[in-house]
Amino acid sequence: IHDRTTIYRVVCIPGDGIGVDITEAAVQVLNTLSKALGGFEFEFTTVDWSSKAYLERGWYMPPDGLEQLKKFDAIYFGAVGWPDVPDHISLWGLILPIRKALNQYVNVRPTRILPGTTSPLANCAQADLDWVIVRENSEGEYSGQGGISHEHSPHAIGTEVSIFTQVGIERIMRFAFETARSRPRKKLTMVTKSNAQRHGMVLWDKVFYEVAKEYGDVEIDKMLVDAMTVRMVLNPKSLDTIVATNLHADILSDLAAALSGSIGIAPSSNLDPTRKNPSMFEPIHGSAPDIAGKGIANPVGAFWSAAEMVRWLGEEKAADGLMKVVESVTAAGVKTKDLGGSENTKGVTEAVCREIEKQF
Ligand code: ATP
Ligand code: MG
Repeated sequence: IHDRTTIYRVVCIPGDGIGVDITEAAVQVLNTLSKALGGFEFEFTTVDWSSKAYLERGWYMPPDGLEQLKKFDAIYFGAVGWPDVPDHISLWGLILPIRKALNQYVNVRPTRILPGTTSPLANCAQADLDWVIVRENSEGEYSGQGGISHEHSPHAIGTEVSIFTQVGIERIMRFAFETARSRPRKKLTMVTKSNAQRHGMVLWDKVFYEVAKEYGDVEIDKMLVDAMTVRMVLNPKSLDTIVATNLHADILSDLAAALSGSIGIAPSSNLDPTRKNPSMFEPIHGSAPDIAGKGIANPVGAFWSAAEMVRWLGEEKAADGLMKVVESVTAAGVKTKDLGGSENTKGVTEAVCREIEKQF
């Protein structure tokens, strides 16, 4: 009797390079999914906030851009960055202000080896991994504070100030503990560099152990970030949920993606856990100028990000279903070149759509 359809309003920011290809692929898959399952639909709005537009008009986002975004249920982001624009301009022109203004203080980055794909660790004894990296997304090393003094002299000094606050650390630790608790192994590894960085990182450690007292059922350990890179390669199975700062988690999640087979499959969710603002979903890879315009980008990270968006919107079953389909497609060997296959973006996208129509 109640066959009402829920409409999710999603704003797409395809951005630059392969961001455009993979956003288009994700939209196609999401529309196919909602049509096959019924009960919900997407209403997509696309904005051209890109480096190309920036070069023409001098801005990434209009002055009311952040306010515009707040009207949507979710944001789907492709990639930003282009060789003609210094990276710090493009990052601070678009993605970092969005994360900050919309209180997206958590960035969740799951990693696992999908069926039919091979990890570069394949020859190691423990070549299996299933991780969730919880990245602090609002402060730390990316606080944007600092400056350059004596800039035009041989004695120029650049300072980059990392800011860690009790409130900021506490909330990311709680989210990480909740994530660890929700997973079968209930295990959380905290990453730090408090041997060399003796203020903010020491506070980071201290708050971690304080919050840990509320989560007696979660097994914890602490790693220095340098040793962590070694452990991820040599003993991947010993890790489950990982919590790290903005910079550390950025680096570790690229490593994680590479270890899982390709940076092209890795998703991320920029979440405002209070749900007062829309959250933003994007593959972790960049605009990949070297393969842009060739139609060969791996869309799996975009599909996985789309699945996480669907999950956050409350359509748990649809999200699981989409991931099952994506995995059946990789398992069947329908893969792009970065995963050792011979398909292009379109081929993988169409295979996923066909499979959705078949399975649901
Ligand atoms: P950013 O600064 O935005 O993180 P980046 O400079 O780190 O970007 P990427 O754009 O992520 O770099 O590309 C890194 C490498 O991975 C490139 O060689 C690129 O071609 C490859 N790559 C990235 N994404 C994909 C994808 N979806 N499919 C195939 N190859 C990819
Ligand atoms: Mg990168």
